[in-house]
Amino acid sequence: MGHNILYIEDNPDNMMLVKRALESRGYKLLEAANGLNGVSTAEANEIDLILLDINLPDIDGYEVARRLRTSTKPALAYIPIIAITANALKGDAEKALSAGCDVYMSKPINIRELWARVEAFVPAPESST
Ligand code: MN
Repeated sequence: MGHNILYIEDNPDNMMLVKRALESRGYKLLEAANGLNGVSTAEANEIDLILLDINLPDIDGYEVARRLRTSTKPALAYIPIIAITANALKGDAEKALSAGCDVYMSKPINIRELWARVEAFVPAPESST
């Protein structure tokens, strides 16, 4: 099993935070700063999990999730997607799930929650003995 995670996020501070947190656990992070680049990166690489910001500068995260789920690359129909919503409003979470995301977490990003949610789908390289 691979350990490649794609993070689709336009905020550089969040990108840096998540990159450090996941690389410290042995994951490899691929980065996309907007929705369209995120979809094309997912289609062009072997990815094991996607972290998806909802507020993006071009297409929003809901549309990204729908495009991934209907991609011509079959693996993207099943790849785990964790939505990261800007607020905890119930409607946002339900929209993310109905767009095809598996779970959601809210900002600000809590590193321990992030590790736990990622590891539920992709065991960390350094803790898999
Ligand atoms: Mn954003």
